[in-house]
Formats: sequence, structure tokens, C-alpha cells
Amino acid sequence: MRETVALTGMVLTASPMKEYDRRVEILTRERGRISAFAQGARKVGSALCACTLPFTFGEFMVYEGKSSYNVKSCMIQKFFGDIAGDYDMTCYASYFAEMAQYFTRENVEAPEEVLLLYMTLLAMQNGRVPFRLVRVIYEMRLMMIEGQGLELFECLRCHRTDTRTVYFAAGGLVCGECAAKEIELAKLYPFILGADALYSLQYILSSPLERLYSFVVAPEVLEELEHFMKGYLGRYLPHHFKALDFIVN
Ligand SMILES: [Zn+2]
Repeated sequence: MRETVALTGMVLTASPMKEYDRRVEILTRERGRISAFAQGARKVGSALCACTLPFTFGEFMVYEGKSSYNVKSCMIQKFFGDIAGDYDMTCYASYFAEMAQYFTRENVEAPEEVLLLYMTLLAMQNGRVPFRLVRVIYEMRLMMIEGQGLELFECLRCHRTDTRTVYFAAGGLVCGECAAKEIELAKLYPFILGADALYSLQYILSSPLERLYSFVVAPEVLEELEHFMKGYLGRYLPHHFKALDFIVN
């Protein structure tokens, strides 16, 4: 008898297979991103139907097959039903899922990624934080989780905390005095953050995941944050995410 394991996570993608089956990718806390097969999931009345739809969160009972896992059953803990009915939310959620997919792989546990994704979808569903800000927060925090974070609390060289000039090439804040001493940096244009934008980014980097989505910003600060993320991701994440083509700001 094959061993069944319980994995907690969220369905990232689902695609039809054969006549009645479904193939899913699940981001799990314990084993990272796994590929699984759900036999009969598209049959009317199948117990596997709802739990193998994108963004379903729960505990999946799976067993290992030859090339992928097989879903035996699932205890749904949260079903993000609103997402499928809202075009914008679907586009953003698909982008978040694609980004998580990019950074995770099988057999590398992903508890923070799972929790971040969960909190992010919850924030969109609650509707208090605009989707554009949700995106900034998600991108910023995910980059940090994946070891691509920026130092935004003090100058990387002299550690003074009163600077707001970010050099992407250096990996964070570098004050004017220190930058002037480095030939490479002196040639570059820094990104100078406003006080509110810097504070927001610091909050995103340091807040517990459960409290990430507890603030909003003025429209001009949001624009500044988006502009900042464009420069940051442009440098550190040279990848085109397909889902972005559907997001129109
Ligand atoms: Zn300095």
C-alpha cells in the first residue's frame, strides 16, 4: 500500500487531463511546489472537484505516483470563490501564483510563500487595500523571502539611517557621501524615495505576514512605489510573467 501524506497548501494552477481528470500544481508548506493528478476531478459530483480549482487552500491527502503525486482527498480550509467571479482579481491572483511558481520547486519547503500567498488573496477578497498596492506589497515581500531583498533601513556603507537614496546596483540605501566615494555608484542615478514611500517599504519588509495588508497610501505614494518596483524588479528579476499581460492599471 502506498503511503499517503498530508500536505497543506494552495492550488496554483489546474488543467484538464483526459476526459474527466485534472492536473494541478499545489504550493505546499512541507514539500514546496508539487505536481499532482486528480483522477475523476471533473466528473459531476466528484469530491475532488472543488479542491482542485485554482486558489483553493487546504490540507491535501496525496500519495506519490511514478512521475507525480495523486490527490486522494482534501480538507478545504479556505475557498477563494470570489476570485473566479472577478476578472481583475483573477488576473492579479494568476500573476501572484505565477511568481510563486517561478521561485519555488519540489522538495524545498515553502511555508512563508504559502502564507504570503494566502494573506495576499485574503487581502484582495477583503477589498480594503487597492489591488495595485497589494501587488507592490506582494512583490516586495516575496523578493525578500527569496533572498533578493534590499537594505532599506540604513546606508549599506556607513549605517546612518537618515538617507532615502537607493542604489539598485548596491542593493539598497547608500547615502550621498558614501556614494560620492565610489566611482561606480557616483556614475549612477539613485532612486530617491519620499518619506512615506520609504516607510511603507520598510513596513513591508519587517511586518509579520499576518499584518502586511493593514495600510493604504495616498495615490501619489502608490505611483512612487510602483515606479520603484519597476526599477527594482527590472534589475533583480529579469523574467517576463505571462499573467502581467492581462493586468491593466
Ligand atoms: Zn553612508
